[in-house]
Amino acid sequence: MALIKKNIWLIFYVFTLFFLILFATLSYLSWKNIYKDYQTTQENMVKLIADSTRSLFKTQETILNIVGNRFLEDENYKNNPRAMTTLNATLIDNPSIDAIALVKPNGTMTFVSGGYDVTKFPNLLEQKASRDSFLATLQSTKMVFGRTYYFKPIEQWITPIRKAIRDQNGHIVTIITAALRVKDSFGSFGVNSDKEYKHNIAILRDEDFYFQYISNDAIDNTVAYSAPMPLKEREAIQNAIMKTHHFTMDQFREHEYLVSFVNTDLSGKQFLTSLQYDKTYKLWISASIPLNIIIKDFLQRFSIYATIFMFISAIFFFLFRTIAKADDKRNADLIFQATHDQLTNLPNRSYLQKNINDWLYKDLPSFSILYIDLDHFKNINDNFGHQYGDYLLVELSKRLKAVTPHDATIVRHGGDEFVIFTYITHDENLLNLANTIIETISQPYYINQLTLIIGASIGISKYPDHGESIDILLRAADIAMYESKKVHNHAHIFHDTLQESYLKNIKIEHELRKAIEHDELSMVYQPQIDHTGNIYGVEALVRWQNSTLGMVPPDQFISVAETSGQMVKIGHFIIARTLKEIKEVQTTLGGIHFQTSINISVRQFMEVAFLEQLLEAIKENKMNQIAVTIEITENLLIEDIDYIIPLLNEIRKCGIQISMDDFGTGYSSLNMLRKLPIDELKIDKSFIDTIVEDETAQTMVQNIIAIGKNFNMHVLAEGVETKEQRALLTSFRCDRFQGYYFAKPLCKNDLIAFFQKYQNERT
Ligand code: C2E
Ligand code: CA
Ligand code: CA
Repeated sequence: MALIKKNIWLIFYVFTLFFLILFATLSYLSWKNIYKDYQTTQENMVKLIADSTRSLFKTQETILNIVGNRFLEDENYKNNPRAMTTLNATLIDNPSIDAIALVKPNGTMTFVSGGYDVTKFPNLLEQKASRDSFLATLQSTKMVFGRTYYFKPIEQWITPIRKAIRDQNGHIVTIITAALRVKDSFGSFGVNSDKEYKHNIAILRDEDFYFQYISNDAIDNTVAYSAPMPLKEREAIQNAIMKTHHFTMDQFREHEYLVSFVNTDLSGKQFLTSLQYDKTYKLWISASIPLNIIIKDFLQRFSIYATIFMFISAIFFFLFRTIAKADDKRNADLIFQATHDQLTNLPNRSYLQKNINDWLYKDLPSFSILYIDLDHFKNINDNFGHQYGDYLLVELSKRLKAVTPHDATIVRHGGDEFVIFTYITHDENLLNLANTIIETISQPYYINQLTLIIGASIGISKYPDHGESIDILLRAADIAMYESKKVHNHAHIFHDTLQESYLKNIKIEHELRKAIEHDELSMVYQPQIDHTGNIYGVEALVRWQNSTLGMVPPDQFISVAETSGQMVKIGHFIIARTLKEIKEVQTTLGGIHFQTSINISVRQFMEVAFLEQLLEAIKENKMNQIAVTIEITENLLIEDIDYIIPLLNEIRKCGIQISMDDFGTGYSSLNMLRKLPIDELKIDKSFIDTIVEDETAQTMVQNIIAIGKNFNMHVLAEGVETKEQRALLTSFRCDRFQGYYFAKPLCKNDLIAFFQKYQNERT
């Protein structure tokens, strides 16, 4: 079936060819048939004329014999014109005889029937047209007919027949001659009656090639009967006979063959001629028809075939075209399906791969790519179900279409990623477009009485400035997009420094893979002091000393570890190393008790066996569960909250405390906070930095502390660097402090030393 579809036009051509051959064959056969028809008709005609002519002459001869015998038997006839008239009257019954006359051997007429004045009749020996045949009559005992000629006295074209009447001694008594009216005699064979065209019938004398009869009215009788057939024409006929039938003229005459052939007359006109020789009277009897009449007849029939053929071809053509079109459409649909996203109908990734060359190699100077990533789209799917997510995407793509220029191409590049190709290249215009897009995307979506809100981050790259292949351009846009992601609902155009940090991240990712094996990771611990001035605990912070990159701050490599899938492994290391070292510190310091805070990244937390492994590690190091705090960030809350809250509750049930890190920078609502089992809020360092001089920061901090108290949480201030900050925070009734003012993050041994020194100073 597929093969048929593929070769549909080939099949059509084969069909057409088949019909063409059929048509040609039919046409050929039809031509043959028509030709044959004409030939048969004409040959029958010739046969009929030959027979008729022969019997005509025979009848006439009989009549002449009767008249001659009477003439011999009854002397009266010789001198009695009245008797002759009676005789004549019976003869005149024969309509083809115009007159009958008696002629002396010297050529003069003695009597003419029909009341003609015999004295006005010419001497037959003196007329050129009658002389030869009259002499022949004198020599012959049989009937002799003469050339057809115009006999003036009776004003008729006639064929004379004569017979010499002899007595017992053989002397000629008289010559009886009758004038046959040419048209009535030969033209009455009725052979042309049922056809609209006329076969040209001719009877030719073999002895002198004069025409005895010619049916064609178009030819002037005077011309036709007063000269023999031109030699050239005769030869042409003879040649045609020989060429068509391969026999000689003698054979032709001898056997009285009836032949048909195509000959050309002197004017170049072609005829189908049928011809037979009559031995008895030495006549050529011919009928001919112009070839173009046969051709015309054929063409009439041919046009019917041609119409049928064309009709069938047209039907076939339309049929095949319909099939081909349907097939093309199916193919186009398939291609469309393969290259377009089912949900939004937007072009998809494979469309991009297929059509990118249109953008890259057209003679276009430049274009830009906008890489759009929806912020926390996953939440919508997780919290409300895919139906809602789908609806939102459809709605969103409509909005995208509405705000992008008409010549732009929007591609759905992934689940919640869209790529827009636009000819806009000016930075300001690009950012304007990006901001418009962000704005439209962030408008609320109303679905079944629910109001959903989503944000988007956009990264922009330009061709050819930022790359000449689609992969490089997409990566550049992606890098810029990640920059935007840091703030949410932002757009960034790619620039070289981003590229540098991107390359740096690649390098970090690469080096990080070997960090644990090469023992490059270590832990430091920053003490935390409570409002009474006692050491409350420590925050464990990871350090990475790499042989090529040097000291890489955790800010940089933790996010790389997250995105490159290394965080779980590194997280295990951090927990294990921290618990082990803290246990050592505690042992060294004689079993002293303090809290240990461990930062847990989102990936690490979302790992299925997270809690199990944490408890395992605590047990392994013989630590007290209640001495461990995990620090989570508000980023975690954008993950599946239905999973997170129960897990946090379970963690807390185990006695492990939970601290909300960097509080105040994220977007968690009070509502949300109420639901969370949080023990401690860590006020972000950025508020503390300006707390002394900035009143807004002061208010913020006061509010956070108030919220904490309200929800029964402790509040810890991070990044305390000065006495003033600490004093102010104390006055705000902040519970705990952490910062360089007290101590920088310390390695295990330094921490031991710090504890010892701090305790000494306190006592
Ligand atoms: P964070 O959890 O907010 O950690 C506090 C950061 O503030 C630490 O930087 C600490 O050295 C710094 N800091 C503390 N007091 C002061 C101060 O008075 N002044 C100034 N200027 N800085 C102070 P660090 O160690 O570079 O860590 C940066 C971030 O890296 C951390 O922020 C945390 O998000 C991440 N991080 C560090 N260690 C770990 C870890 O073991 N696991 C995870 N998941 N993240 C970690
Ligand atoms: Ca922290
Ligand atoms: Ca922090």
